[in-house]
Amino acid sequence: MTGLERIVVVGASQAGCGAASALRGLGFDGEITVIGDEPHRPYTRPPLSKGVLTGIEPEHSVFLPAPDDVRLRTGVTAVGLDREKSAVELADGEHLPYDGLVIATGARARRLGTAVGTAVGTGVGNGETTLRGLDDAVGLRGRLADSRDVAVAGAGFLGLEIASAAVGLGKAVTVVDQFPALLGRLGPLLADLVLAAAAEHGVRVSVAPAGVRIDRSGRLLTTDGALLAEADLVVTAAGDVPNTEWLHGSGIRLDGGVVIDNACRVAPNIVAAGDVVSAPGRDGRMTRSPHWWSALSQAKIAAATLLGREPADLVGGTPPFFWTEMFGLKIRMAGRLPPVGEPTVLDGSIAQRRALLLWPGAGPGDAFGTAVSVNLPISAPKLTRLAQRSPAHQRTL
Ligand SMILES: Cc1cc2nc3c(=O)[nH]c(=O)nc-3n(C[C@H](O)[C@H](O)[C@H](O)COP(=O)(O)OP(=O)(O)OC[C@H]3O[C@@H](n4cnc5c(N)ncnc54)[C@H](O)[C@@H]3O)c2cc1C
Repeated sequence: MTGLERIVVVGASQAGCGAASALRGLGFDGEITVIGDEPHRPYTRPPLSKGVLTGIEPEHSVFLPAPDDVRLRTGVTAVGLDREKSAVELADGEHLPYDGLVIATGARARRLGTAVGTAVGTGVGNGETTLRGLDDAVGLRGRLADSRDVAVAGAGFLGLEIASAAVGLGKAVTVVDQFPALLGRLGPLLADLVLAAAAEHGVRVSVAPAGVRIDRSGRLLTTDGALLAEADLVVTAAGDVPNTEWLHGSGIRLDGGVVIDNACRVAPNIVAAGDVVSAPGRDGRMTRSPHWWSALSQAKIAAATLLGREPADLVGGTPPFFWTEMFGLKIRMAGRLPPVGEPTVLDGSIAQRRALLLWPGAGPGDAFGTAVSVNLPISAPKLTRLAQRSPAHQRTL
């Protein structure tokens, strides 16, 4: 028995709700309070840059089912953690006591115009538009309708998904990044595939190696002031910043996020999951994996650990799964990113943009390879199995 009667979950989104559901699933029958600072009930974010932005999916489709028998408090911000008293401090001065705590405060959009770690608030501010939450998506959809030209700063998954939605709505779209689009995440073969599809859709993607900034009138400039793009609407998609400020002074270890071990443990009776966490990678460096699947799998691990159970999996024990949709490509991946070297084509063809691809792991220590489906309906468990069966020493299946 753990002796836990009251569990507080801070962060009412994918990881927080996933942890609350997992706690109930594991038989915890004490009190669970989930706190979230957004005014909405919990929702999922992936559709925001896809169907919700284009208007294909209604915004109410994003809401998550409520976890069983949970006290959900929305519009409530945690501003501090008093570990001596085992209490979460809320913005209105209330101290919420806990026996067990789940930290799941996720991340917010990084802005180019402000120093990393200081930006707060909604998706529009300081002349910058970003996309992180439901209100951002609804606001951006409205602004897209009123714009002819759109410039996106940031050619990662989110920036290109926004570009894809915008061009699908008939806008002239330019994307600029300091680094070649998606190369660091997808490797050359898949990055080229995406770039070719973007070009066919008429999207201009360029690289500004010195970096990108946005001036007061919303123009995209290089850091030394050369004009990169002028548009009715400029959107920043330059990564995210974990929401850890409320933990400052609490003694919780922060290193690029809340530091967890491979069982999502943070401190006695405190666990963390999702975009807010940072975990040691295989090379020992702290890494974040701010993706939907990671949030859910870590939530399950965190719940088990908090209840003193053996988690069914450990962080890094299974190949991570990720998907994206842009320019007519549905790409689903499991395993190590970026994949390195040449893949084996297990089905379909790369030229026809319908393929199942498998890369072996890159080095002797790599436990997984990378399995990728492009426009083929391959399930996440199958991709994960393929990636697991293709460690570094095994060149073929
Ligand atoms: C537009 C968009 C599209 C995406 N598409 C994909 C995709 O296609 N595939 C994929 O794998 N992943 C995708 N992701 C990533 C995925 O959505 C995230 O990994 C996931 O939402 C992480 O969940 P989380 O609960 O850890 O954090 P979050 O979703 O960030 O939730 C954290 C919650 O905590 C709240 N909070 C923060 N601080 C406090 C505080 N002090 N007090 C109270 N509440 C607080 C936040 O407001 C938020 O509601 C996408 C993300 C975005 C933004």
